[in-house]
This record gives sequence, structure tokens and C-alpha cells, in this order.
Amino acid sequence: MEIAAEVGVTRQRVAAIRRQLGPPTPAVEPRLCPQCGVVFLPQANRNRYCSQACGSLAQRRRVNTFCYTCGLPVEIPRAQFHRYPNHFCGRPCRSKMARKLGMERRIEREFVDSFARVP
Ligand SMILES: [Zn+2]
Ligand SMILES: [Zn+2]
Repeated sequence: MEIAAEVGVTRQRVAAIRRQLGPPTPAVEPRLCPQCGVVFLPQANRNRYCSQACGSLAQRRRVNTFCYTCGLPVEIPRAQFHRYPNHFCGRPCRSKMARKLGMERRIEREFVDSFARVP
């Protein structure tokens, strides 16, 4: 396994990969998969992970945080954690806070999305 060595990716290494893969496509740079640490050439510029498997693995990674309303510990997907500022243990806490803040419908809908599953 060479993964450890590849995590500390150097300019030379990137250049070597470029040579291996032929002429570089201008828009796409080789990048490091944040999930498994492998250097890969993305098919599209928005690809963050080397494969679908790594992408969904990363999605499944969870973050422990606290309910914005009641302070109960909650576990949410990492992607969601970065996407929303507030998280809730469940629907009642979410609507309580939404009402309290006098939120508009649109914002309230975002709050609905801000927790994975009502336990
Ligand atoms: Zn990967
Ligand atoms: Zn709560």
C-alpha cells in the first residue's frame, strides 16, 4: 500500500501522474481524494472524490453536534453539518425554533432539511 506516501503529494508527483495520463486537460487538475487519500484525475472539475464509493462513504460520515433548541446531542451527516448553521434533534425542536425566530416559509423549509431524520 502506497497510500501514506501519496498523501504527502508533491509537485513532482503530480507532474509524474500527468505524464502517465498523457497530455493534461486544461480545466482538470489531479487532486487528492479526501476520503481515501489517493491522487486521481477527476472526470469533471466538480468531482471531489476518486470514485462514487468514496463519495458516498464520505456522505455517510457523521458529525456529533447539539440540538439548537434543546441542546440534546445529535448526529448528522458531515455534508449537512457544513451546509446549515443550526441543527435539531427532531421536528418539534425545529418548528419551535422556526416559530420563535418568526421565520419565513422559505427559511423554515431549509430548517426542515437541516436534520437528517427525525428519530
Ligand atoms: Zn477515494
Ligand atoms: Zn432538540
